[in-house]
Amino acid sequence: MPSSILMLENVTKKFGKFKALDNVNISVDRGEIRGLVGPNGAGKSTLIKTSLGLLRRDYGKVLLFGKDPFFDPEARERVGVIYERPALPASMPVIEFLSKAAEIYGSTKEHLRDALELVGLEDQAYKPFSQLSAGQRQRAAIAHALVSSPEIIIADEPTSNLDPVERNKILELFLEINQERKLTILISSHVLHELLRISSTITIIKSGKIIKSGTPDEIVRNISMTRIRCKDPESLKELLSSLGFSFTSEGGNVYVKTEEKGIASKLLNALSDYIKKGNDIYGIEFVEPGIEEILEE
Ligand code: ADP
Ligand code: MG
Repeated sequence: MPSSILMLENVTKKFGKFKALDNVNISVDRGEIRGLVGPNGAGKSTLIKTSLGLLRRDYGKVLLFGKDPFFDPEARERVGVIYERPALPASMPVIEFLSKAAEIYGSTKEHLRDALELVGLEDQAYKPFSQLSAGQRQRAAIAHALVSSPEIIIADEPTSNLDPVERNKILELFLEINQERKLTILISSHVLHELLRISSTITIIKSGKIIKSGTPDEIVRNISMTRIRCKDPESLKELLSSLGFSFTSEGGNVYVKTEEKGIASKLLNALSDYIKKGNDIYGIEFVEPGIEEILEE
């Protein structure tokens, strides 16, 4: 069996004249968690829909389990798909919805219970979806996908509608599903750092093009940022400009690029002088770069 579950080769997808995917190459291997990261409108959903054969590519080759999913939709039956806002019947209890899915896929009651337990919804099983939080609904959607015993889970921005606590629970859940159930996962997000934590490989997409692909380490290597929180960002920015630092700012935070050798020490010296002149600094932290810094490279 080939280790690649999904493969796109030189795929271009156009809407009219606009290329939503522009010569995309990606191959998702069995067992990995692939993070697909890009800003809004980058082409993540188009890539996912094209991979599932819900959209037809204009050029190139799409292979899902070795077959073109647009012409062989059976390949889709081996995929559990999860969307940003799962479409769930508001008045139906969770257990009824999952039981119906179990029936369709010929899954046992044990399998269903196992899926419910895995996502941590045993106690909510008899509640209708309208009484569930967004995170619980997303977990029910994951249980629904698991009931069909998929070999790969494809999740399109499953966390973008959630608060930080629910977001983390969902990410942990994907990690658990991958590590304990050995399921391959393709997950997209516009937030780089949340996928850096769980992915084996990260693929960055922008304007329909794959910009970069690699392990989380390879993606962020050589791009380190230092965040400085201070009382008077304007005066700090003036100082940094005069010393030739590369930086951005947001609210009371100033982010300085410190990837080059020696820059961090130079920055700390400058900050020390700045403080000696009577300026206040509340905090200095080394932070992971965001998608903007990666795309800027
Ligand atoms: P993402 O999921 O990364 O936010 P999408 O794949 O949804 O991005 O969209 C990529 C680009 O393709 C966007 O510019 C979007 O407006 C455009 N697009 C997506 N779907 C359609 C469509 N059905 N018709 C025309 N343009 C579309
Ligand atoms: Mg999208």
